[in-house]
Amino acid sequence: MTKKERYEYVIRYFEEHAPDAETELIYDNPYQLLVAVILSAQCTDKRVNMTTPAIFEKYPTVQDLSTATVEELFPLIKSISYPNNKTKHLIGMAKMVTEEYNGEIPKTVPELIKLPGVGRKTANVITSVIDHQPNMAVDTHVFRVSARIGLTTNAKTVLQAEKQLVQNFPADKIHIAHHWLILHGRYVCIARNPKCGICGIRPACKYYQKITKPA
Ligand code: SF4
Repeated sequence: MTKKERYEYVIRYFEEHAPDAETELIYDNPYQLLVAVILSAQCTDKRVNMTTPAIFEKYPTVQDLSTATVEELFPLIKSISYPNNKTKHLIGMAKMVTEEYNGEIPKTVPELIKLPGVGRKTANVITSVIDHQPNMAVDTHVFRVSARIGLTTNAKTVLQAEKQLVQNFPADKIHIAHHWLILHGRYVCIARNPKCGICGIRPACKYYQKITKPA
């Protein structure tokens, strides 16, 4: 199977089986999504979703959050990984959005990555989820699953994986392909014991072909 055929198979499969794939983070607007994505670094979406309602109740807008003190915000975040840094990042992000972007969450990757706590992956998530921009956020699941299937070849870094995926997925599929690969990695192609037996990607998967190849 050529790489092109592999991509075509993967797109066909997920379009049929996961046509509405989306983030599992709960949010109502760009501000809430940005807070949730910043909190989700090294933390499960489930835990983030348990944490954000209290934050959004106390700070309904980015301007409200910009007035928070560390002492006020920290207790709402303390059950999440890296709470000290994330508290500072959220307040710093809110201040910058309020002061430099008139309270509007910026919509481009170069602007977003200037915000405290926002790296390339977070900026790619925000722009692809909110705006369907063709930006691919590569997290540990996307990195692993893409390599196993053979969508990426010898990618040593997330940036290399991102470039290969963006080059090969059609631009209008990139925003949803991110969710396809994350969810597949979270529930089927899991890190230690991928559930190949129930995986519909088997016919196109390099890893599966390798482990089932007759000796
Ligand atoms: S066949 Fe196995 S390794 Fe390949 S994508 Fe499916 S679960 Fe992952």
